[in-house]
Amino acid sequence: MDEKNRPTAEFPAPHMGEPYLLTPGPLTTSYEVKQAMLKDWGSWDGDFRAMTASLCTKLLNIAGDDGTEYDCVPMQGSGTFAVEAMLGSLLGKNSKTLVLVNGAYGKRIAETLRYLGRNHLVIDKGDYMPPRGVEVAAALAEDSEITHVVLVHCETSSGILNPVQEISEIVAAAGRKLLIDSMSAFGALPLDVRDIRYEAMISSANKCIEGVPGFGFIIAHKSELEAAKGNSHSLSLDVHAQWANFKKTGQWRFTPPTHAVAAFMKALEMHEAEGGAPARLARYERNRDVMVAGMRDLGFETLLKDRWLSPIIVTFFNPDHPNFAFGRFYDLMKAKGFIIYPGKLTVVDSFRIGCIGRLDEQVMRNVVAAAKESLEEMNVDSASPPESALKERARLAA
Ligand SMILES: *Cc1c(COP(=O)(O)O)cnc(C)c1O
Repeated sequence: MDEKNRPTAEFPAPHMGEPYLLTPGPLTTSYEVKQAMLKDWGSWDGDFRAMTASLCTKLLNIAGDDGTEYDCVPMQGSGTFAVEAMLGSLLGKNSKTLVLVNGAYGKRIAETLRYLGRNHLVIDKGDYMPPRGVEVAAALAEDSEITHVVLVHCETSSGILNPVQEISEIVAAAGRKLLIDSMSAFGALPLDVRDIRYEAMISSANKCIEGVPGFGFIIAHKSELEAAKGNSHSLSLDVHAQWANFKKTGQWRFTPPTHAVAAFMKALEMHEAEGGAPARLARYERNRDVMVAGMRDLGFETLLKDRWLSPIIVTFFNPDHPNFAFGRFYDLMKAKGFIIYPGKLTVVDSFRIGCIGRLDEQVMRNVVAAAKESLEEMNVDSASPPESALKERARLAA
């Protein structure tokens, strides 16, 4: 390794020679976060209850509220469990929901509503076109029965950053309610309730706050939580019941992920010490800029134009070169200490590199160097994508 590219003291290499996870969660966590799990907690105990209460206060603060208007309800399980809990609990039996889809996570929301038997319709923009305010306004004007709109903040399948402020203003102006899947964005991208109006959002422990997997959380207006009573299809995913239990006893209703919560408290402390969401966003943006510039120098092309490139994860087209095979590229990158992510597009072959987790631009320089070496080892002398991929991208520009 180039001497100048040694990991910095603040962002040391993962311990025990583990590879970096350049994935959108689970992701590379700090040593301190992992260390916080070397202790067992009683779920009923006062210390753990205090930890849960503090966790909620800190998350509300990141969302710009002090617990007056909004409340935070943690929910066991992966992020999808929290999404399903929010949808099943906040959408009444007579609701009608407009789902804005531009990738796998938006599709999953529509699929969840189908399971739940909740009335809904979809605007599907394909793999990576952003939903825009005008089309949402038109859909809401046309159908007065629509009560809610659901938006994915950063659609992690392509890495596109959807225009949350624009959609929020349209939904509010039409007098409807907005629910946001901010799983991969909250904690870095702004989602302050004083600037962006929404009724509820969800995120999870193992994304931009840089904790380990185990739970998600719903931040919702208190009036929505009150009104959610009796809506849920599910006992374990009932957000109102979970919220009521926290208020009454300070406890999770069923076994909490104690170690994941302890790790998350450390992660929140480090989030705050770094300078909160703005500082984290700035680091992720530097990670993205250094990585994207380096990959473009090698001849790789991004799926999205700069305007829609999130600082969370970036999609690259696979090179057209006959010697390129993603599986081999993946193995070579892993051998150099970097776990990358396969693509999730339907039309063209692609792969993804995440910018989030306990890593900085120095690490990203090494990612680019590893990609260069890997191409050389595969005898790939050009990383340019096929003509068809570039045509597909031009469609987005149109
Ligand atoms: C990670 C993620 C989820 C949840 O995925 P899980 O695998 O259930 O944790 C949902 N939506 C988005 C946008 C995500 O990035």
